[in-house]
Amino acid sequence: MLTSIAGKSVVVTGASRGIGKGIAEVFASRGGKVLVVARNLDQAEACAAGLRQAGGTALACAADVASRPDMDRMVQTAVERHGGLDILCANAGVFPQAKLDAMTEADWDQVFSTNVKGTFLAVQAAIPALKKSGAGRIVLTSSITGPVTGFPGWAHYGASKAAQLGFMRTACIELAKHGITINAVLPGNIKTEGLADLGPDYERSMAVSIPLKRLGTVEDIGHAALFLASKEAGYITGQTIIVDGGQILPESLEALNQA
Ligand code: NAP
Repeated sequence: MLTSIAGKSVVVTGASRGIGKGIAEVFASRGGKVLVVARNLDQAEACAAGLRQAGGTALACAADVASRPDMDRMVQTAVERHGGLDILCANAGVFPQAKLDAMTEADWDQVFSTNVKGTFLAVQAAIPALKKSGAGRIVLTSSITGPVTGFPGWAHYGASKAAQLGFMRTACIELAKHGITINAVLPGNIKTEGLADLGPDYERSMAVSIPLKRLGTVEDIGHAALFLASKEAGYITGQTIIVDGGQILPESLEALNQA
């Protein structure tokens, strides 16, 4: 049982839906004071209201991770309204698909602006407040796509998710002297609202190649983030945890058929 989250100020970017919402729910249910961040204020506010209704402490903040002023304002909001900042979950990300022969520079820039520059700006803005925390924690949401696997249409996305890890490995060394850790969760296929809309047949077809025979839940990612943000994980930094039901391990579908 991890007991160190109660009363901590937590910022989760991209928390109005999907994995970020799951992370926010897990932290709020453990007593964290959560700032729900997304560009659309109504959707962020709806998520924060749900967390409050469930007994948690949560506020919404409209901010674009690709904007320096927005990231400064996000951190300032956490400090002013929640008394500081202890944990940053840099989760916001986009994954439009474009095959290489059709990919435009604008496609590439959009993905890198949110996923890579957005990670950098959120982390950099958070550093002064995390230093004051004395035991600051940063948890990035990367992906198996890019760092470990590939998928047609996601060359830019995969490159951005691998770039987050390159960023993390140097940030970890620079931040260690302030007692701040930075780690990453690498989700496999996670059942978010967008995927649920595609129906049970699509979901079943995706689950076939996963040893645990189901897609991940947003809570599965939230629990991994919770562990990395806990006091108990204080000696882990610059590392990755793959949360994918074993998806990356079978050499072929035949390996699963023979199990
Ligand atoms: P999602 O359902 O599309 O939700 C994305 C969230 O990020 C929303 O709250 C969105 O709200 C916010 N967002 C997008 N761009 C933003 C920006 N520039 N600034 C601030 N917030 C922004 O996505 P998801 O599937 O949960 O994915 C979340 C993260 O997990 C991403 O980093 C993704 O790469 C990673 N991931 C997902 C999966 C999966 O299976 N779903 C697998 C591996 C990794 P607004 O649009 O209002 O800003």
